[in-house]
Amino acid sequence: MLVVMKRGATQQEIDAVVARIREFGITPVPLPGAERTAIGTFGSTSREAADAVESLPGVAEVVPVSRPFKLASREVIPTDTVVRIGDVPIGASAPLAVAAGPCSVETREQTVATARAVRDAGAAALRGGAFKPRTSPYQFRGLGESGLDILAEARAETGLPIITEVLTPGDVDAVARVADCLQIGARNMQNFALLDAVGEQSKPVLLKRGMSATVEELLLSAEYVLAKGNRNVILCERGIRTFEKYTRNTFDVNAIPLLKRLTHLPVLADPSHGTGKWYLVAPVALAAVAAGADGLLIEVHPSPDHALSDGYQSLTFANFAALMATVPEVARAVGRTAATSAVRA
Ligand code: PEP
Ligand code: MN
Repeated sequence: MLVVMKRGATQQEIDAVVARIREFGITPVPLPGAERTAIGTFGSTSREAADAVESLPGVAEVVPVSRPFKLASREVIPTDTVVRIGDVPIGASAPLAVAAGPCSVETREQTVATARAVRDAGAAALRGGAFKPRTSPYQFRGLGESGLDILAEARAETGLPIITEVLTPGDVDAVARVADCLQIGARNMQNFALLDAVGEQSKPVLLKRGMSATVEELLLSAEYVLAKGNRNVILCERGIRTFEKYTRNTFDVNAIPLLKRLTHLPVLADPSHGTGKWYLVAPVALAAVAAGADGLLIEVHPSPDHALSDGYQSLTFANFAALMATVPEVARAVGRTAATSAVRA
């Protein structure tokens, strides 16, 4: 349930509600808002508790929360959440934010050159993997910690904040020390120990949809992170597995406006993994912007033919710049600010 306090409710009244809820053995979650405070009690509902709380001073109403995800839902938090990666705001009316970079950090030269190219084209963040989840154990699995050092150098060179994947709970501290945002990849969307671990630290989390996950499962995974106290979660549609073979995944454009309706969390689109083909990335990126995405995640490589992972879906610098020149036109057409996030050097 959600206990909605009156506009002018005092801190004492709020504390009294919190204390009364605790008496029922339920954990209250205070949710201060711009206009009024609400107090959520999730996971357990009791009619007696609702009745007891409803009559307390300062309480406006007690409403049941019908969705299985709570802190992620618009029922509980109606206004859009803005998540900051470094100093780049993402969500609500913030400019469209484009995160771009190589699938894998391979060398210092490759990473810094890509960071410069994507920054110059208007990207707001650098995304590159140091710890790589690979389908086969014989494929390149990333440089690990030395990849993190390279990403930190690229940030120092370009001013771009860094998004990078974390694969295991044991790596969370090391990755969070360097990264501005931790990515949870599709294969780990339901790694609940990892979701708990990133929920217990304060860097923002980019949560990618699992390749066979429903929208509700994605939101329940976000709920794990939110419930641990980290409210800075960005969702990412990256395509789902279907019977289609010409593409690597089927980019689910439905998910974008659906997520925007169900949740207050920002939503990014990843047409690189969503299609698996470099020549499909730009049109699907533009479709995602038209559908209301808060930003894009695009794989870019200095020489896609030589990439150690995901070369076939990576854009060249020139193709990325061409896409970035078109994105503002579509953004403007759907009533979004035409600018992409400003670059700070
Ligand atoms: C990636 O972002 O490079 C990646 C592995 O993506 P996903 O987890 O969506 O497959
Ligand atoms: Mn990739």
